[in-house]
Amino acid sequence: MEGDSQTPRPGLTCPFEKLRPSQLVRDDAFYMALAFNLAVDAWRIDEVPIGAVIERGGEIIAAAHNEVERSNDPTAHAEMLAITQAAHKIGDWRLNDCTLYVTKEPCPMCSGATIMSRLGRVVYAWGDPKMGCMGGATALHALPKLNHRVNAVGGVLEAPCKEILQAYFNMKRGRETSDPA
Ligand SMILES: [Zn+2]
Repeated sequence: MEGDSQTPRPGLTCPFEKLRPSQLVRDDAFYMALAFNLAVDAWRIDEVPIGAVIERGGEIIAAAHNEVERSNDPTAHAEMLAITQAAHKIGDWRLNDCTLYVTKEPCPMCSGATIMSRLGRVVYAWGDPKMGCMGGATALHALPKLNHRVNAVGGVLEAPCKEILQAYFNMKRGRETSDPA
């Protein structure tokens, strides 16, 4: 590829292929595969590869990936964008009968948003021991006096969702050390 002016910047070439889950089995792994594919889309525009979808009654009502860089908005996490989309789509901010699938355990902000939107269920892939607030670093959703209980499950399709994040950060570190600009 050397000398090819069409070659995109290294950061935009995602080494991960999109998954093609069977349409016949609509289980947690199926919806998480769709979230993973959004993470691949995020990498391709040089955003941190985290994707999220929201499912309701077997239908995807929201799909988003991290957009912090592009929108220069620290709140533009995949989960936040998906929650806003879902509420608009169903015309109700209460998402009790919805499930959020996200490739990384929600951070403090997004964990809070799952509680405030009364999401019925949150399924995440990789548990984040540093920033995860649904069982990893702490468990916001398990605060004893909360009126709403979010059911949270981790570990679904963990390997690819964790690998794409690690590879992205490794690539960033490599680029930053080899290119001082
Ligand atoms: Zn977040």
